[in-house]
Amino acid sequence: MPDVLVIGGGSAGVAAGLAAARRGVEVMMVEGGGYLGGAGTAALVHSFCGLYELRESETETLKIANAGLAEELERRLREEGIGERRRMGRVDVLMHSPQRLAAFYDRWCAAEKPLKVLLHTSVIAAKVENGRVSELTLHCRGSSMLVRPKAIVDASGDAVLAALTGHPFELTPSNELLRPAYCAGIAGAGELPPLEIAAVLVRGIQSGHLPCEAAGAHFRQIEGGQVFLTLDLPGDEHYDSTSAASLSAVEVSGRSLAFQIVDYLREEHAAFREAWIAALPARAGVRESRRWIGKTVLTEEDLLSSHRGEDDVAFATWPMELRETAKGPKLLFPRDLKPCGIPAGCLQARDLANVFIAGRCLSTTHRAQASTRVMGTALATGEAAGKMAASF
Ligand SMILES: Cc1cc2nc3c(=O)[nH]c(=O)nc-3n(C[C@H](O)[C@H](O)[C@H](O)COP(=O)(O)OP(=O)(O)OC[C@H]3O[C@@H](n4cnc5c(N)ncnc54)[C@H](O)[C@@H]3O)c2cc1C
Repeated sequence: MPDVLVIGGGSAGVAAGLAAARRGVEVMMVEGGGYLGGAGTAALVHSFCGLYELRESETETLKIANAGLAEELERRLREEGIGERRRMGRVDVLMHSPQRLAAFYDRWCAAEKPLKVLLHTSVIAAKVENGRVSELTLHCRGSSMLVRPKAIVDASGDAVLAALTGHPFELTPSNELLRPAYCAGIAGAGELPPLEIAAVLVRGIQSGHLPCEAAGAHFRQIEGGQVFLTLDLPGDEHYDSTSAASLSAVEVSGRSLAFQIVDYLREEHAAFREAWIAALPARAGVRESRRWIGKTVLTEEDLLSSHRGEDDVAFATWPMELRETAKGPKLLFPRDLKPCGIPAGCLQARDLANVFIAGRCLSTTHRAQASTRVMGTALATGEAAGKMAASF
């Protein structure tokens, strides 16, 4: 029986699993999909944000925001040719290959013996007794299994354990919920001049060859020439990232639009003449769903004022990236460009003593989540939650 159960093998879950295992306790990490990495692999998100502190200009030294596993991952991905630092406007990111990241995560986790990874395995039920989660049901292709860990880290991105136990959580109303997106990998493209391609897409929309949603398309090239298309989508009329109907609509419209755009560009721009869609995501990208109510709730003002406290366990550095429409982000930067501390209370369920939280479903407000959700910060909150769970 594991001491610690980690739900979800995304950036936060992997870090939680590794951190707890390095403390010498038995850890089981369950991931519903077929590979680790969460959105950074399965949804083809291809850059790590939140790994670095903000800086005024490129002449300032680039500093890692969180020591520990985030720093280790950043160094190893660069050493192994999987990640490459890039300055983008006012921020710095590590571009990565999602496919190679998935294989890296396998190796990283396999090296920690007390960590057992179960893919294709989901938590589907949980029992609460005396203010603690006492038992969870795991499910894999029609078979189920019961586990009774001492502590649990919910790194599901969706606060699934809050939903399953009836613990309070928040879900932003549909009109403000961060919009979904669909990423696809493209092979065979040449050098991409972004302004020219944007102009071709606008012509396509104006002439009726492309639907107006194509305006939410942008392309990025990573080292090695692979190109990723990201399509920001409005979602359906009452978009709800926890509803199967809404998610189905996002998948179908994302896939269809990706092919329409690439087919159109093949005809209309030389850089796409030989291009084809080489990779579809295992799932569309969900930026926001349920958030836990923890002992502390991180707020927009905390981030704007770069708040620091004695019980901080991780640092958030990414600006609040509000994507409440499919028309591109609105970025809110902290006033002094300094990191904001994330207190331990944001990683602890308010009413369940043995439940810790990491990543996208952390205890924050809607706007604060628009910063803390990114993968660099998810690694740091995952590591902190894993340590807390191991010593529970
Ligand atoms: C389109 C898009 C673009 C983005 N761009 C960037 C970017 O450029 N840089 C950046 O840093 N961030 C970006 N983000 C945000 C970032 O990818 C996510 O917020 C981040 O991956 C959150 O990490 P996580 O580990 O909390 O959750 P996730 O990566 O979502 O991982 C959660 C994992 O839990 C698993 N899971 C869920 N429920 C269960 C269950 N019941 N049982 C078992 N497993 C379960 C899921 O299968 C999943 O693999 C983007 C997000 C989207 C959608």
